[in-house]
Amino acid sequence: MASNPFNLSGRRALITGAGQGIGLALARALAEAGAAVVLNGRDAGKLERAASLLRTGGYSAEIAAFDVTDPEAVRAGIAAVTAQGDIDILINNAGIQRRAPLQDFPEDTWDELMRTNLDAVFYVAKSVARHMIPRGRGKIVNICSVQSELGRPGIAPYAASKGAVRMLTRGMCADWARHGLQVNGLAPGYFETEMNRALVENPEFSAWLCNRTPAGRWGRVEELGGAAVFLASDASSFVNGQVVFVDGGMTAVV
Ligand code: NDP
Repeated sequence: MASNPFNLSGRRALITGAGQGIGLALARALAEAGAAVVLNGRDAGKLERAASLLRTGGYSAEIAAFDVTDPEAVRAGIAAVTAQGDIDILINNAGIQRRAPLQDFPEDTWDELMRTNLDAVFYVAKSVARHMIPRGRGKIVNICSVQSELGRPGIAPYAASKGAVRMLTRGMCADWARHGLQVNGLAPGYFETEMNRALVENPEFSAWLCNRTPAGRWGRVEELGGAAVFLASDASSFVNGQVVFVDGGMTAVV
């Protein structure tokens, strides 16, 4: 029987922002596909609780606590992770949302948003790519967003940061494909996480969302796992520089 191209046994994956929400769901999906996972975030206690839940399920899970917006911390953090073993898969997931009308949007909040959603993707991917390039292989998945495709009030800086990550994904493919790396994006629609708590609790927003989304509902974080495993595995061996939208059809219709 042909081997399963979605099988991640023997691969080690680093997932940023993996203590909760989408990052934790992606870590679980990769672990279920056979990968050993390394959970990143800033709160070691939260990461340890998430990792021990995964270990209880029989999966291999380590933690690597560092702030992805600090280039020195990223270099040291990636060096510590690679000292324990190779990184075959990187999921750049850590991100934040900040909402305000653009005319009132504080400059320091803009800086915080760009540092977390864009600069950090560069810092982490650069450090990990320098480890992957000599090995001639590696999979990087950057978490993008449907917001790069929509004009929605109050989130222009967030949308801009995610649009830049979409373009950075293509650029990483352009620079690193020749070294055997694959860099793709995964763009979630609206998912019920802590980031969206205020929206989830707002019946008017939920009604708008369910009407605007062909699937007629919010996404569940576990519904992102299949696309992540696809992009992290041999099943996507000729897919590079692309963004897969997992959005219940939201970006397919006006
Ligand atoms: P959450 O707010 O639930 O989780 C975000 C995670 O990012 C947390 O674990 C947080 O960890 C981590 N993080 C934030 N800043 C840093 C930092 N400086 N260094 C390390 N880790 C950090 O968000 P979601 O799970 O909803 O979102 C995950 C990703 O998916 C984000 O990139 C988001 O933009 C994107 N996305 C989400 C959508 C949604 O509907 N939820 C839709 C489209 C995209 P800690 O604070 O413990 O350090």
